[in-house]
Amino acid sequence: MLKKELGIFTFQDLLEHFPNRHIDKTKVNKIKDITIQTEYIQVAGTLMDFEVIGERHSKRLVAHIKDNSGILELAWFQGVNWVHKNLHIGSDYLVFGRTGFFNGKPQIVHPEIEPYVPAIADGKAFLEPVYPTTEKLKARGLNGRQIAKITYTLLAAIQEKDISENIPDDLMKRLQLMKRYDAYRAIHFPQSPEEYEKAVHRLKFEELFIAQIRVNLIRLQRHQVSKGILFEKVGDYFNNFYNQHLPFQLTGAQKRVLKEIRYDTARGHQMNRLLQGDVGSGKTIVALLSMLLAADNGYQSCLMAPTEILAQQHFNGLSDLLKEMPIEIALLTGSTKTAQRKKILKGLLDDTIHFVVGTHAIIEDIVQFKNLGLAIVDEQHRFGVAQRAKLWEKAIIPPHVLVMTATPIPRTLAMTAYGDLDYSIMDELPPGRQPITTVHRYENSRASVMDFVKTEITKGRQAYFIYPLIEESEKMSYEDLMQGYEQVKSFFPEHLYSISMVHGRMPAEQKDANMQRFVSGDTQIMVGTTVIEVGVNVPNASVMVIESTEKFGLSQLHQLRGRVGRGTEKSFCILLTGSKVGEDARERINIMCATNDGFKIAEKDLQLRGPGDIEGTRQSGALNFKLASIVNDKQLLELARFEAENLLEEDIEINMAKNLQLKSFLRSQKGKTGWSKIS
Ligand code: ADP
Ligand code: MG
Repeated sequence: MLKKELGIFTFQDLLEHFPNRHIDKTKVNKIKDITIQTEYIQVAGTLMDFEVIGERHSKRLVAHIKDNSGILELAWFQGVNWVHKNLHIGSDYLVFGRTGFFNGKPQIVHPEIEPYVPAIADGKAFLEPVYPTTEKLKARGLNGRQIAKITYTLLAAIQEKDISENIPDDLMKRLQLMKRYDAYRAIHFPQSPEEYEKAVHRLKFEELFIAQIRVNLIRLQRHQVSKGILFEKVGDYFNNFYNQHLPFQLTGAQKRVLKEIRYDTARGHQMNRLLQGDVGSGKTIVALLSMLLAADNGYQSCLMAPTEILAQQHFNGLSDLLKEMPIEIALLTGSTKTAQRKKILKGLLDDTIHFVVGTHAIIEDIVQFKNLGLAIVDEQHRFGVAQRAKLWEKAIIPPHVLVMTATPIPRTLAMTAYGDLDYSIMDELPPGRQPITTVHRYENSRASVMDFVKTEITKGRQAYFIYPLIEESEKMSYEDLMQGYEQVKSFFPEHLYSISMVHGRMPAEQKDANMQRFVSGDTQIMVGTTVIEVGVNVPNASVMVIESTEKFGLSQLHQLRGRVGRGTEKSFCILLTGSKVGEDARERINIMCATNDGFKIAEKDLQLRGPGDIEGTRQSGALNFKLASIVNDKQLLELARFEAENLLEEDIEINMAKNLQLKSFLRSQKGKTGWSKIS
């Protein structure tokens, strides 16, 4: 039962089934003190009566207890038989639960109830743990208090050696951390609220510290012991392009990141770098210059994008930039024709192709390189860690890897989910961009929104209309989109305007063709779902209308908005909603209207949604802490990171005497740490 309902399999699991909170058992309230504001309460009283009332679905057991101040109703919808058997009229009970009001009278549904034994009045509070439990367990009579009893017994039987320390002694002293053994006892059965806080602090630190040791171990080992391709020099490819073909001045941030990449690749160790840049910060050119650096040193490069459209667009963009350079560049995607594919595979093997741009097709085993030196992954969110790893196998010495994100990731999240990578930040937009103006409009001002879009189109600009993908139902999304399409058409008649549409149900070829028409300026309006979301670059587009904005997450909205404002023209983002907007959606809309800064939006998104939902990190498991939260325990996370880095800088093998208890702990958690290179 415990197994199935709570995932508790071992004693360790039981110890890590932490209480939600504690109640002071000596503190018994009066029934008359229950008000609308009361959340949980503990009262003691005599059971007056109980009876089963209602039929079938509404069948429930209702009882009343009475203390010297009033009467409280108790109700059970499940486990009626159990209650029936175990409660006796006239006996005293201690009752705990969440209070509510029913017909104006206070009530507790499914209370925790046990025979009342007045606490021994030694003046000391007894903090009893309250554990998360489930309705099913409760119905079987296994409530939080029973779990407390089992845990209490377990803790009494356990000795210090059973929960051995895993944090080095010097660190324990310096940070004044509670011992591991003590912390486990105190988090369940604290003697005081202060002791409880210290226990929580210790265990949170431990979680974050161990996780940071793990990711930093991978990173620092790579710096110190991995073998990597050496990009010794900056040569003609790079210099000629930089001096003669670069269409603009690099921003300070772009220069800084290039320096970091140059440094990384000139050390003889493998680079594995995450490049975080806001939408439109100009990551592509950084990628291109890095590829030229590889070419200068006799190595090939590949650039992977998550969709055909993006790969195509990168290929076109790069080909254009490189048109006067003696560089061979190829496009390889799922839809590359067989003959062409053969040619490319051959060119990669005999090194006549310098750069290959493509989709997942590049990581297929059949694609082999003569000497791949650099692999770049654009819009990381859609590539998993496993896919990244596949890139490594494409050469004897693993190529340098540069991962570029689509939108910023909050720092704390990057530290945990991508802590094994080094990271660079591009927090500067190219000059001359005008900030995008974002407004919220209700459905009833649609006509004036359409008029506005019309004036922009008359000026020669292009516009997007984006409809949400309804996750539960592809069909509904599709119907929504089609209705939207008809509506747009009614405002923009076909003999005057041309409209492209893309959606997930379309065959890839048709999607690409429609997209391409918009990119080339052949159509003025693009109607679509979020399939266009990432990366698409149409600098002439100046209006983004988002339909049913309340259905989008913050990062997604920011990413969508990033499709406009890519040229020198003033751009606009219009967030449409119905007249009723929920509180969360309203907050998202307010943030969007208030700032264009992707880093700020990412932080806010993390606060609103929590780390579990941030796209791309969902599967990583790196964020599943039992106690710590990367949102609320930011400072502790920073500290854990700092200490983990210090320790590893000093003792990368974790062999110093003072660190051995840490090492044996990590060993005991095999599978979670990459030990292959250490032992
Ligand atoms: P993202 O970081 O979102 O991938 P891109 O690399 O697509 O951004 O760049 C967005 C636009 O900005 C492109 O049209 C690109 O040519 C332009 N751009 C990039 N860097 C600069 C720069 N330093 N100065 C001016 N324009 C730039
Ligand atoms: Mg991009």
